[in-house]
Amino acid sequence: MDAKRRQWREPTKLFINGRWEAPKSERFFETLNPATEEVLARVSEAGAADVDDAVRAARKAFEEGPWSKMVPKERGRLVAKLADLIEQNADELSEIETLDTGMPYGMARYGLIPTAADIMRHSAGWADKVYGETNPVDPAFFSYSLREPVGLCAGIIPWNVPLTMAAMKLGPALALGNVMILKPAEQAPLTCLRFAELVREAGIPDGVINILTGLGPNSTGSFLANHPGIDKVAFTGSSEVGKEIVKSSSGNLKRVSLELGGKSPNIVFSDADIEQALAGAIPAFTAHCGQICFLGTRFFVQQEIYDEFTARLSEMTSGIKVGDPFDKDTQLGPLITREQHERVAGYLKLGVQEGAKLRVGGDAKPKDRGYFVAPTVFSEVKNEMRIAQEEIFGPVATITRFKDEHDAVLQGNDTAFGLAANLWTRDAGRAHRVARALKAGTIWVNCFGFPDAAASFGGYKQSGYGRELGKHVVETYTQLKTVCVKL
Ligand code: NAP
Ligand code: MG
Repeated sequence: MDAKRRQWREPTKLFINGRWEAPKSERFFETLNPATEEVLARVSEAGAADVDDAVRAARKAFEEGPWSKMVPKERGRLVAKLADLIEQNADELSEIETLDTGMPYGMARYGLIPTAADIMRHSAGWADKVYGETNPVDPAFFSYSLREPVGLCAGIIPWNVPLTMAAMKLGPALALGNVMILKPAEQAPLTCLRFAELVREAGIPDGVINILTGLGPNSTGSFLANHPGIDKVAFTGSSEVGKEIVKSSSGNLKRVSLELGGKSPNIVFSDADIEQALAGAIPAFTAHCGQICFLGTRFFVQQEIYDEFTARLSEMTSGIKVGDPFDKDTQLGPLITREQHERVAGYLKLGVQEGAKLRVGGDAKPKDRGYFVAPTVFSEVKNEMRIAQEEIFGPVATITRFKDEHDAVLQGNDTAFGLAANLWTRDAGRAHRVARALKAGTIWVNCFGFPDAAASFGGYKQSGYGRELGKHVVETYTQLKTVCVKL
């Protein structure tokens, strides 16, 4: 495939006000191909002056430009055009996504890039479907409420599924009349830069979307979070950085929405369809090498089927093919960076030290080159162990035993996170009881689920606040204004 030979010969630039600009900071960093450890591109680091330029351009686009004054359905048409262009360029975007993040090509091409287009198109529909209200006040007055855009939003996103994350931020923000400065993660910024060209092709007015590559702390990310000229930060990333964002945003009391980390319980009752549960269990800890926030990596299996489930999951895991993400047989690509590889390797050691039983995997370096790690299953895990409590972000399953429904809920909820949960049972009453009892933003019953553009997604507890997707995203990117008229 040509993409494997793709090179970015010149350093990439910043996308500000519809143009490519060299960074005033004159600083650059590198992004690597995690499967080969080769440098893919030198990337601009937006400094304070570059962020100021983007803020000025976006503010102008919002206050004076055509975006907020546009007929809503026209705005929707332009956002939908972005969806069309993602689809038309899906092969290339998928190749770049695979090169930069290491995700298997099939996952990008048939999963996450089409999902980015879906989210964009679904979001576009909001442009002309948000209604105001009339308020039942004293009849001597006419009072109504308008739902208006928040204004200039910063979208700060992680590296795991960059274009999908970009669509989750840009689609609804734009459709609802906001403008945005998007900051991709430093580890995988390249699809967002290719997307910037599509922004121009779609005819989105200058300044409405600005894309600033850069680093996080004391760099582009924190300049955005602290900037007094920005009205809102929509952040997806770790809970740790989420807390920093909240602190940084306090200067001008920016609106903040947070999609943070997870460590989702995956509860298998003895009355479950075991074949179905096992089939769903594999992607639940190995998809994108375990680097997806909502994965159900923390298994709780009822004692009657514990031994059978554990043995069979371990056997299935041993057959997983790890390797070149462009190879169509590959199920597991590499982790994103050397640093992440070291973290995951540390957890593999820690699991054994904590007294869990290593059933399969544990090999932190199955290949000479690339940040690969073997998919790993630990059994006899106690819920208080660090491997069961901390977000590993690698292909590591922990399996803990439980007695009954009460015990499953108690242990499942015993975590700082609350992004999602999975449960497997044939008993319909139990399915709904447990779904209610689990403290998480999304519950998947008898399926390995993925977020859907039409269903709200977000966290309980330290997995964040605010909702993306579904109809509740409207609250995330709008504010209410009441108008009262004396009659
Ligand atoms: P991260 O380290 O929290 O970084 C996320 C983004 O924030 C990056 O663009 C990063 O820039 C930036 N950043 C870092 N420090 C910052 C600061 N002090 N101020 C402003 N911005 C800052 O997360 P990650 O390692 O990229 O992604 C993995 C995490 O994301 C996991 O915890 C995962 O669960 C979570 N995640 C959550 C969801 C969800 O929907 N809930 C979805 C996907 C991922 P740099 O990259 O340049 O440091
Ligand atoms: Mg990269």
